[in-house]
Amino acid sequence: MSDLEKLPKTIKRKLSNHEQARNKSERRAALQKANKMAKRGGKEKQVRHKNWKPANIDLADLTDPEAWDEFEGWEENGLVGNARIMPVGEQERKRALEKVLFQPQNAVVAEEDGADASEEDVRLAHTVEGRVIEVSTGLCRVSTAGGHLLCTIRQSLRASETGFTNVVAVGDNVRVLALDAENGAVEQVLPRRTVLARPDVFYSHLRQLLVANADQLLIVAAWREPIIWFELIDRYLIAAERAQLPAMLCINKVDLADDRRACEVALQPYHALGVEVILTSAETGEGVERLRERLVGRISVLAGLSGVGKSSLLSAVEPGLRLRVAEVSDRKHEGRHTTTQSSWHTLAGGGAVVDTPGIRDFGLAGLYKQDLTSYFPEFVAHTANCRFRNCTHINEVGCGVLAAVQRGEIAESRYHSYTCIYPTLA
Ligand code: GDP
Repeated sequence: MSDLEKLPKTIKRKLSNHEQARNKSERRAALQKANKMAKRGGKEKQVRHKNWKPANIDLADLTDPEAWDEFEGWEENGLVGNARIMPVGEQERKRALEKVLFQPQNAVVAEEDGADASEEDVRLAHTVEGRVIEVSTGLCRVSTAGGHLLCTIRQSLRASETGFTNVVAVGDNVRVLALDAENGAVEQVLPRRTVLARPDVFYSHLRQLLVANADQLLIVAAWREPIIWFELIDRYLIAAERAQLPAMLCINKVDLADDRRACEVALQPYHALGVEVILTSAETGEGVERLRERLVGRISVLAGLSGVGKSSLLSAVEPGLRLRVAEVSDRKHEGRHTTTQSSWHTLAGGGAVVDTPGIRDFGLAGLYKQDLTSYFPEFVAHTANCRFRNCTHINEVGCGVLAAVQRGEIAESRYHSYTCIYPTLA
């Protein structure tokens, strides 16, 4: 009796089932292979190597348009399937690139530029500079000297390597390859002067880029209706400092102030911090001219609660300017998340205003409790008087900051903001 026959019946049954299953899966794989081969017209699978080229084409002759006919035929057989899985617009981009790169005069440009002139150099030589003024998933609108182009974004521009989840943002300076009068492709994102970003909802180690190259943050608050909220102003100021953007404070609806003096006193701490404060009324036109002066020629990001009068103010600054906040569903996370896109409003006198709803939650993420005092510079001199070295300035006895508040040397509203923000930090 063989060893196999000595095994118990149950084990023998299991072994036989296993054997049958293995035969079945091998048969299935062989069948799939035969089917695929039949689809290829009985040919073996074609393996594409990195340096592929049809055997009868000399790469040196690629400037000859007829040489491309040979490629066409080869492409029909080998690359059609590949083309089908390309992102929208990528095929058109590649065709336009081929046209540009292999025109004989361009080949000369490449040679004249020296032996090192790479395909990248030649390609970029055919792009124009522009500014991104609108972004939606995978596409953006770019304003160039020749007009607006709706652009795809080159696949090799990978966002994750930059620490952001998105490749381009409103305000980005880019180089685009025009595919026709209305369409193009972003080939390069130029270095950014400033960046306004917030943590990404899904990838906590990455940030979502909101606005690039802004010059200033314009914080708009209403004196009344809705009542001025100092904590929010202070949060915006911290966020602006972290993004290294100068901030300006616009207090609107001052026509509703019963006591104008009280309004000025309440805003004194901001003057003391060196923040420019403009009192405005979209209703009476007060302060509008001064606001216009501060906006023209700069890229300003708007921040402020809804209802404070941002739209009214901006149409007073420039009649016809309409704030529009596009709520665009992010296709990638459809059903789970709605992203709000920044909208760009060019000013006739130069510069632009960017409205970005994402600003509501940008800024304080990643800020540690112990670092909060550095954003309240008027506290710093008084911390030396605290009894405890690790005083949080919230409720400790012998706190130098609290004593300064009681003496009227630190504004109560600023201290109140500190105590509200502190517990919300990491
Ligand atoms: P937004 O949501 O910040 O864009 O605010 P809106 O511009 O839509 O204004 C909200 C409301 O406040 C509207 O009813 C405006 O007429 C009113 N409003 C705006 N600015 C002023 C102002 O300076 N004074 C007064 N009294 N009302 C204003």
